[in-house]
Amino acid sequence: MTEPRTAELTANLARVRARIAAAAQAAGRDPAEVTLVAVSKTFPAADVRILADLGVTDFGENRDDEAAAKAAELAELGLRWHFVGQVQRRKARSVASYADVVHAVDRQPLAAALDRGAHARSAPLDVLVQVSLDPPEQAGNRGGVDPAQAVELAQQIAELPRLRLAGVMGLAPRHGDPGPGFDRLVLVAADVQTVAPAAVIVSAGMSADLVAAVSRGATLVRVGTALFGGRPIRSEDGPPGG
Ligand SMILES: *Cc1c(COP(=O)(O)O)cnc(C)c1O
Repeated sequence: MTEPRTAELTANLARVRARIAAAAQAAGRDPAEVTLVAVSKTFPAADVRILADLGVTDFGENRDDEAAAKAAELAELGLRWHFVGQVQRRKARSVASYADVVHAVDRQPLAAALDRGAHARSAPLDVLVQVSLDPPEQAGNRGGVDPAQAVELAQQIAELPRLRLAGVMGLAPRHGDPGPGFDRLVLVAADVQTVAPAAVIVSAGMSADLVAAVSRGATLVRVGTALFGGRPIRSEDGPPGG
């Protein structure tokens, strides 16, 4: 007999994969181009195990203590851990010890702290430049570099020996159609690729807007609620300010 939670996660995963596939096909894209990151914050390691058994390889977290504990408990599964939230500089060393990809790098000092923190790693740490997609008057509290500064930050990251610039990340503006913001992110990604050709990840789209993101060119979606269900309210679980 299948456990109820296994049945629930199986059904949710099938629905999310179907949404990604439909959006990709409608845009003339191969669904295999889109990486699904299951954002497991607030949910137990047991849930991660169930999704891993179902073939999910990439998981996202946004709090260092919780992420470190899950990554350690599940180390034998060989999962890829994505740190999707803002990183406090004093946490950079810890995050760099278990994360495979850090999504929200929006300033040089944070990149430098991650580079120092990555000294004991056997492989470089993949990082994404977080680009603010908010209108200028609302930019700020959710992090993200101004789109016009993204290439400069990418160049600074490229100089750090233990980091590998893997792409860009964005949060859709809080209100209105997310499409134009995602279009802007895809354009910034192309600019960044002129200085870092391997920076091919476009991390955009969450439960509510993953179809819009995939149809505009996202190569990675970060999905929490649509997979795991609703979360208890916790201030940092936004997504930031969302
Ligand atoms: C929590 C979070 C997500 C997942 O959001 P859902 O709406 O639950 O899918 C994605 N990205 C970031 C940065 C987050 O903090």
